[in-house]
Amino acid sequence: MIKKLDHIGIAVKDMENGLNRWKALLNAADADIEEIPERGVRAAHLDIPGGGSVELVEPLTPDSPVAKFLETRGEGIHHVCFEVKDIEAAIKGLKENGVRFITEGPVCGAGGSRIIFAHPRDMGGVLVELKEKAKEISLRPE
Ligand code: ZN
Repeated sequence: MIKKLDHIGIAVKDMENGLNRWKALLNAADADIEEIPERGVRAAHLDIPGGGSVELVEPLTPDSPVAKFLETRGEGIHHVCFEVKDIEAAIKGLKENGVRFITEGPVCGAGGSRIIFAHPRDMGGVLVELKEKAKEISLRPE
């Protein structure tokens, strides 16, 4: 059900500082910073050579979940995201194993994807994001 590791989410207090650090490490070009008010964050993705990416998340408001994370745990790894083929099937499989989710069902993620977060209490303290990419529309006739 898991296709691959999609990205590692890292909570930062200051996006510009975070970008400078991670761009230097990954030798990455400038990243677009996207505001996601529904999640209370600004996010930027930096590609990792060979596959996957690093997602920097900075809180937009003091009451955002990422702000609370930074308050209690400081900067660092916030979540791990896996790409799945079928998000409903992945959710069902985990629920059958007693895993709860933060939201009732999948919500809209970047680039038309659908995402959901499994509860860290049921995943050994790790916040796990599942992501199903937007279906690619083929321009070639089948
Ligand atoms: Zn993420």
